[in-house]
Amino acid sequence: MQKSDFSAQLEYSGIKQKVLAYFQNSANARACLLLLSWLLVWFSGALVEYTNHASVWFPAAGLSFAVLFVVGLRATPIIMLGAVLVTLFTNNNYQIHLNFYQVLLSGVLFGFAHIIPYYFGSRCLRWLTQSKQLTLPLSIISFLIIAAISSMVATFSVLMSLVYSNIMTFQEFTHAWLPFWVGDMAGIIVLSPLFFSVLHVLYPKKSFHILNHIEGQNPIPTPQFKYKVLISLSLVVITMVVSYYTQSVDSSFMIFFLVLPHMWIACTENAFLNVLSLALSSLLIVFLVDKLGLMDFVMVYQYAINVVATNAMFAIAVPALTAHNHLLKNKVFIDNLTQTASREYLTQRAMIELRQAQWENKDLCLLVYDIDHFKNINDSHGHNAGDQALVNLSEMVKQLLRPDDLLGRFGGDEFIVLLPNTNSQTAMLVGNRLLEHINGMELIEGEKLSISIGFAQMRQDDNFESLFKRADKALYEAKRSGRNSIFQE
Ligand code: GH3
Ligand code: MG
Repeated sequence: MQKSDFSAQLEYSGIKQKVLAYFQNSANARACLLLLSWLLVWFSGALVEYTNHASVWFPAAGLSFAVLFVVGLRATPIIMLGAVLVTLFTNNNYQIHLNFYQVLLSGVLFGFAHIIPYYFGSRCLRWLTQSKQLTLPLSIISFLIIAAISSMVATFSVLMSLVYSNIMTFQEFTHAWLPFWVGDMAGIIVLSPLFFSVLHVLYPKKSFHILNHIEGQNPIPTPQFKYKVLISLSLVVITMVVSYYTQSVDSSFMIFFLVLPHMWIACTENAFLNVLSLALSSLLIVFLVDKLGLMDFVMVYQYAINVVATNAMFAIAVPALTAHNHLLKNKVFIDNLTQTASREYLTQRAMIELRQAQWENKDLCLLVYDIDHFKNINDSHGHNAGDQALVNLSEMVKQLLRPDDLLGRFGGDEFIVLLPNTNSQTAMLVGNRLLEHINGMELIEGEKLSISIGFAQMRQDDNFESLFKRADKALYEAKRSGRNSIFQE
């Protein structure tokens, strides 16, 4: 049973690879697939038209934008053919009786009016993201602004071409432009990121995959992903059913709550799952507007799709920024060589611990140690061996401290140990323990090391600088007295 499952799986993945390779290697097959997809996507928009020429959304705009972004000028004949074919359909469907040449002309006009704004918009985005090396938030804002502008230009040019071709009256134009524009914009903002991902697979060499430029992504869904999607979709259904029963515009605004689960998804899942879930929610909204006949509130739903998608787009940056932040934090707060706390972190933490200990009237000691004659190690064994000695020593000291103690490198071969809840007697014990363990130990082969320690107990009027100064003075005394010893200030 298991074996046959496995071989079926192998067979399936083999077929998948073959189909993919076929499309990747044949420009004609890809062109046919694109044309078919464009027509399908156009009809899916036309299915949810709530009035002549105005659909809840226009997914074909999203596909054109993505295709022109990825493929460029070579895709224009395919979209033009699609535009002519759908105009032929429109002519039949709306019972507009134009002769064949008039339909052809209006189809070509529609094609140009649709293609030119999206071509320039998508190329502009590609140029910005590729050559200007924009940060992720700036790439996203560029995408949103370009989507809004190019869909507005496309709306006016397409509607004017329809008026010019006598398919639409000027009166209809004045009523249709706003929902037409918002619908086109929704098509681009929600769907083109998803289409980018699919086209990236079909055109692996040509494509510039925007999602690849988002680092720090979890490649697989979290176990909760399905529940997050379920919550989003349930919210859509519940709010829209309420609108259906109440038939009040106020209740239709509840759809804006959808921003919450989508922000959750965007902040916790990868960019692809984010755009996929957005597409699912939007598709369900569009479907329910049509099926429940919520045409009176259609603008609310159109704006909701745009607003939810815009928010979620921005939140795409959150996992990447968190990952970057984590990396930067590690760089700044951890000493690269010894993996102990950095001087910056140590100073910050020490100031907080000091204030807290003074507030709570608790003891605190600061211990400073420095390797004796460390220069000799570098001189006789080389800098790398010296580095290794610093690493080994730090490892060893970490083992000898409590979890609450903080070990950090102050610079060179000088280290600091912050000992919260520790009085000077205990600090002396800790210091002696370090001396004993290190004394005579071979931290690198053939070389014995020792350290000198100075420490000071916190006073009520101490700040980090004054406490450190006293501990460092004690360290100086330890060095002066012959090294390998501990002194208290
Ligand atoms: P002392 O007993 O007086 O401390 O003598 P010392 O030779 O240890 O002198 P000091 O502490 O003043 O000098 C520290 C030396 O540590 C200077 C430098 O050669 C070496 N050093 C500082 N940072 C590093 C490092 O990151 N790696 C290595 N390998 N050596 C370092
Ligand atoms: Mg030294």
